[in-house]
Amino acid sequence: MSGPRKLFVKSYGCQMNVYDSNRMADVLAPHGFIETAAPDGADLVILNTCHIREKAAEKVYSELGRIRKLKEAADRSNRHMLVAVAGCVAQAEGGEILRRASVVDLVLGPQSYHRLPDLIDRVAREGRVVDTEFPVEDKFDFLAPPSREATRARGVTAFVTVQEGCDRFCTFCVVPYTRGAEVSRPVAQIVAEVERLAAAGVREVTLIGQNVNAYHGAGPGRAEWTLGRLLHRVAEIEGIARLRYTTSHPADMDDSLIAAHRDVPQLMPCLHLPVQSGSDRVLAAMKRRHTRTRYIEIVERLRTARPDLALTSDFIVGFPGESDEDFHETVTLVDHIGFAGAFSFKYSPRPGTPAAVMADQVSDEIKVERLARLQAAIDRHQAAFNARTLGMTFSVLLEKPGRHPGQLVGRSPYLQPVQVMAPPDLIGEIVAARIIEVGPNSLFGVLDEPLKPMRPQRAALAVAGA
Ligand code: SAM
Ligand code: SF4
Repeated sequence: MSGPRKLFVKSYGCQMNVYDSNRMADVLAPHGFIETAAPDGADLVILNTCHIREKAAEKVYSELGRIRKLKEAADRSNRHMLVAVAGCVAQAEGGEILRRASVVDLVLGPQSYHRLPDLIDRVAREGRVVDTEFPVEDKFDFLAPPSREATRARGVTAFVTVQEGCDRFCTFCVVPYTRGAEVSRPVAQIVAEVERLAAAGVREVTLIGQNVNAYHGAGPGRAEWTLGRLLHRVAEIEGIARLRYTTSHPADMDDSLIAAHRDVPQLMPCLHLPVQSGSDRVLAAMKRRHTRTRYIEIVERLRTARPDLALTSDFIVGFPGESDEDFHETVTLVDHIGFAGAFSFKYSPRPGTPAAVMADQVSDEIKVERLARLQAAIDRHQAAFNARTLGMTFSVLLEKPGRHPGQLVGRSPYLQPVQVMAPPDLIGEIVAARIIEVGPNSLFGVLDEPLKPMRPQRAALAVAGA
């Protein structure tokens, strides 16, 4: 294809999809596609979908209804708009999407992104195409790196996929079916990608994967490296001042990773460690392969390694068979750990997963009521955590202009948005900011002095349970 064409990519769901959307834009850039912020007038619209819960999947079909109107308008003005559905809904539903949505020209699964230019040509030649194969080649060997300008435009923080897929098969989860078996990228490939990002001005990197701490990629000499070891290596890269990783499974928190929280100063004191439930009976039915006690032990070891560590988590309420007592155990676990924040979801039966056909499905009414009670407990702890930052000074990576003139917004080590008055040339700098106000959605700070050279300091936030 030649000549500039407008590309609109919309991401649903997790950070993996945000990363994949950027990679799709990078693959298409050499073929003349330029990203645009709105679907109107686009030559190619890609919806990068999420299948984790039913609501996430259904959103795609309502968006396709809106896109259909735009495509009809394009047809009327003799322009062609190509519509692609990518991601996990594409992988799970394949050709069914073409049947349900006549507007769609191309359906491609997460393992086919490197083939996008060819697939677009195939649509032009043959009409509608579905590609949800798990190819033998490694897509990461073929994915084009972003240009320096594209990296810059995406800001000073970046995600880097280090592993994909999952072999754990928790009974509620579609990921092992839509993303396939667990695959770790080799260390050299990851280091090269982070070096490129750092050279373009990225200061903070989040290593991502569906089960990121199952990482076991080939290091030099082909020895398998753990995530802990990889974090040490990535921390050596000049310019990378902050590291994070997500999302982790408690059973894969090995000694090297726990030690990295003590030994790698660039690793931010903030960890998302989904527990799903506080009840051993439910955890066993979910096949989570850890108990409540084991989870608490892991958290204690992490807090010993890094006393100012803030923990966040994911919870599912209304898993099949969850009783009032089971649910109560989840609430008491929230109080015991004192999470700095958490996502909580109503259990959503996913076709093809074991839990979807379990007896004792919980009614929506009970799920709604439990979700509200759990969220209230989580909100209480989150508010208490944020309140404790008042008067504290910590490092803030300034990311972009804030809402008001003269304001910049950045992130604390704990991922809280922090608004400060600061000149725009400080974007990309790590500054010391003293928190003077705690709002419902962000913190407000005043600048001390730029921290140079940057050393993430230990903010010593007490995060133990209330
Ligand atoms: N790998 C992570 C782990 O082991 O916990 C989770 C990744 S998953 C993409 C993100 C979250 O979605 C899960 O932690 C879980 O809370 C939620 N989730 C997954 N399947 C779900 C389902 N069927 N219904 C409701 N929530 C679900
Ligand atoms: Fe899904 Fe996470 Fe369980 Fe893997 S470990 S099956 S991604 S919930």
